[in-house]
Amino acid sequence: MRVTILGAGTSIPARGYSPAGIYVQVARERVLLDAGAGSLQRLHLAKAPWDQLDRIFLTHFHVDHCLDLVSILFALRLPQVRRKKSLQVYGPPGLKTLYRQLNAAYHDWLSPRGYRVIFHEVQRATLRLPGYTVRSYPMNHYATRAVGYRLTAGGKTLAYSGDTDVCDSAVAMGQRADLLILECSVPDEQKVEGHLTPSECAQIAARAQCRRLVLSHFYPVFKRYDIRARVRRSYRGHLTLARDFTSFHI
Ligand SMILES: [Zn+2]
Ligand SMILES: [Zn+2]
Repeated sequence: MRVTILGAGTSIPARGYSPAGIYVQVARERVLLDAGAGSLQRLHLAKAPWDQLDRIFLTHFHVDHCLDLVSILFALRLPQVRRKKSLQVYGPPGLKTLYRQLNAAYHDWLSPRGYRVIFHEVQRATLRLPGYTVRSYPMNHYATRAVGYRLTAGGKTLAYSGDTDVCDSAVAMGQRADLLILECSVPDEQKVEGHLTPSECAQIAARAQCRRLVLSHFYPVFKRYDIRARVRRSYRGHLTLARDFTSFHI
């Protein structure tokens, strides 16, 4: 698996920290986890074949995680793209309604032409896909029905929380993962309900016994805080603080 963080930030503009998106090459497929604003452009900058995406997995419907679904569907229908293969889009319940409403708002300009888009609503699901498996886990993010995803291929595992507060489901999702990507929104001193702090991420990673913890989804407030020091109080494994285009091979 090759994993590229396309956006390590949130909806607040910050250099090097764009809204959420992760590009994954797994088995023979090209997959996008979340599609925050600018993900399409950053797929291009990462030299990913954006017009060949097989699947998009959305964690929830906050705009810093899904705004570019619109940009991608709009681009894929252009005649010069000549898209033929189906695009499978996954997300929590509400995905189909979201698409219908967006497409209506954009006067049907998101409807696929020459190819199909198939939407799948998932909560606690196991998907057996060509050469890999994806499991979805309900997360704890306000009243939204957010999910995290765990991808397994060839004995290697990537887990991604999307946005969440502390929950056992995040630990289960990250259990012994080779790469556990957790959102880390705010410092411990400024805890916000619905999101994780560095200490909480570390505790989840320690319980999950993941091989590498990757923190992402940083609000700019972090500039004044030592994230590593907080994580090291309870997690001793490999640690990466993501920026846009941080990538991994697992
Ligand atoms: Zn959110
Ligand atoms: Zn977010």
